[in-house]
Amino acid sequence: MLDGLFRPRAVGVIGASGNPFSIGHIVVKNLVNYGFVGPVFPINPKGGTIRSIQAYKSILDVPCDTIDLVNISIKNVYVPGVLEECGKKGVKFAIVHSAGFKEVGPEGVELERKMVETAHKHGIRIFGPNSQGIQNADPEVSVYANFTFVPQKPGNISIIAQGGGMGEMLKLHLHNVGLGHRMYCSYGNECDLTMPEILAYYGQDDGTRAIMMQTESFKDPRAFLEAAAAITPHKPILAIKAGRTAEGSKAVSSHTGALVDQVKMAEAMYRKAGVVPFTDTDEMIKAAIAMSTQNPPPGNRIGIITNTGGPGIQAVDESIGQGLELAKWSDEGKKRLQETQFAEASLGNPVDVVATANQDHYHAAISTLLAEKNTDMVMVFFVTAPFTDIDAIAVRIKEATEVSNKPVVVVVETYSENYRLIDQLRAANLPVYEFAEDGARALAAMTRYSVLRDRVREDLPDLKTDHAAAEAIIEGYRGKDSYLTQEDAFAVLSAYGIRSPRMAGFSTPRGLNGAADIAGFPCVLKIESADVVHKSDEGGVVLDIANLDELQKAYDGMAARFGTDEAFLLMEQAPKGRELIAGVAASEGLGSLVMFGLGGIFVEVMKDVAAAVAPLSLPEADELVRAIQGFEVLSGARGTEPVDLPALSEMLVRVSILAADFPEIVEMDLNPIFAYPSGQAPVAVDVRLKVQ
Ligand code: ADP
Ligand code: MG
Repeated sequence: MLDGLFRPRAVGVIGASGNPFSIGHIVVKNLVNYGFVGPVFPINPKGGTIRSIQAYKSILDVPCDTIDLVNISIKNVYVPGVLEECGKKGVKFAIVHSAGFKEVGPEGVELERKMVETAHKHGIRIFGPNSQGIQNADPEVSVYANFTFVPQKPGNISIIAQGGGMGEMLKLHLHNVGLGHRMYCSYGNECDLTMPEILAYYGQDDGTRAIMMQTESFKDPRAFLEAAAAITPHKPILAIKAGRTAEGSKAVSSHTGALVDQVKMAEAMYRKAGVVPFTDTDEMIKAAIAMSTQNPPPGNRIGIITNTGGPGIQAVDESIGQGLELAKWSDEGKKRLQETQFAEASLGNPVDVVATANQDHYHAAISTLLAEKNTDMVMVFFVTAPFTDIDAIAVRIKEATEVSNKPVVVVVETYSENYRLIDQLRAANLPVYEFAEDGARALAAMTRYSVLRDRVREDLPDLKTDHAAAEAIIEGYRGKDSYLTQEDAFAVLSAYGIRSPRMAGFSTPRGLNGAADIAGFPCVLKIESADVVHKSDEGGVVLDIANLDELQKAYDGMAARFGTDEAFLLMEQAPKGRELIAGVAASEGLGSLVMFGLGGIFVEVMKDVAAAVAPLSLPEADELVRAIQGFEVLSGARGTEPVDLPALSEMLVRVSILAADFPEIVEMDLNPIFAYPSGQAPVAVDVRLKVQ
């Protein structure tokens, strides 16, 4: 329970001073100016008064027994000592602003350890260090235990950010559009109290309707996954992950001392937990504003109303680009539009009510679309044409929207003289944007949340796998950090029901005929050597071998190239299918990830690969397949034959179960897999499998 942190009864500010530029001073000022409901106690060895409040020399001198929270901004080395006193005083949480801990090297690590040890001895939890602080704008507490500057005002979006600069940015932009926030924290080093604990607390807060988060690295991905997954079925989490590029992630690691490239991992975690990911801060804030005031849409069909053509087209383009569909009106809807709109209005989607439309035209158009069964959300575009009564329009838009559960966003094109219109609409709980694209993106993000929230959750399917057979092979490699031979790797796949062609390994010329009996013709000859990683690049794969003569020739060629001491693998040649890749990668703290993509240039050039956390249920595998950009290539785009998608999902589930059963599989590449039309399971024709 983090009530002591986010709803403290009294707050002590250790390191408060008269210097208006000091952290302690600013924290006192913020607590007082934003109306903290409890008492604030500045602590300063010199005593005196700070901002007209009596300061105490030690927290032990304060005549109050309900100091749940202290903010500490004294020099790092003094922190453990002060915590001893806080312990005696019964303090529950300490926000440590001071820097100079883990991020500065071994000495800092030791100091941090000592600080946490002291705190825990007294049952105190540490928030930070090197952190900004927390806020809770709930009027019941109104606590601003943070040294920053954005004015605090109640709202229903809670913010959790690793970096203070980013957290402030989120808060600032809510403020700039006249909105407040609920809880806020920027958590810094996470030496004790963790991000997932705070997230879980936000999740349980009734006043929080949407959560925005920013992270640079995940200290405990598994804990985050569990906390987030418990929240997203009832409230949205919107997330932005810093360091998506290799260059960016370098900046991250030098910034916080965490050393991981966690891009794919974050993507996989967000997918599993039902978190809505963003790459653009502005887009995330705008989506959060929509989610904090509107219900998620029941489907993806948008209705657009405009009084000017161009922005309507922008709205359509962006909506379609974001995966929304244009709603079609029922006969009844069409009739109502005809009855209520000008003759020159165009009544398709978008409905162009034309620039002379007044408040009643808007009201009728909005009410009509919101009542349409096949419309899941509405965007209203309004350019403040000089011949319209904008105040009356604001009132009628409010009246038309407040009776519906469907989400509405309003896009207003106007200039400063008319900004009261925007204020009126916001006061009516409507998200207001400047550009049609912003509105479309916000609605699309809400739709993505609806899909995540409502997705089918299933247990792992009960598939037959032979754990013992796989174990018997993997046992021989465990602890060696090496690749399995292809034959062994294929045998592991087969134990888990992942299909591959018939094959036989051999290591002397005499083995050739026996292998041919097993593989049959046409067949494929491959070199089997730990030193040859990309076999075909080095002439280690011969395809289309039709008979024994050709096989002998292929063998002679390879023997000349690699020597007769090498081992070889002879495989049945699988019929050409759609080339896919799947893989397993071990990730720190989260277990294994399953990767999936289209083979060839799709993966090499376009890097179109999606990741998911193992093990996968069938719906999760399905989602993974659909997550790649080139999904339509599999589902029969442009008259191509679709592949057997359920069979593909089952194969990915099998791969994921194998990965989860054997965490020592640190790397596995099935490249390529051939997928076939309906009725045929996919076949892995090449595998690389590394066991640690
Ligand atoms: P590498 O990736 O090490 O170069 P592969 O075993 O993947 O070698 O073989 C190269 C290519 O040959 C594959 O991408 C695939 O197109 C084809 N191929 C390999 N094995 C088979 C097989 N058994 N049946 C059909 N095609 C195959
Ligand atoms: Mg290959």
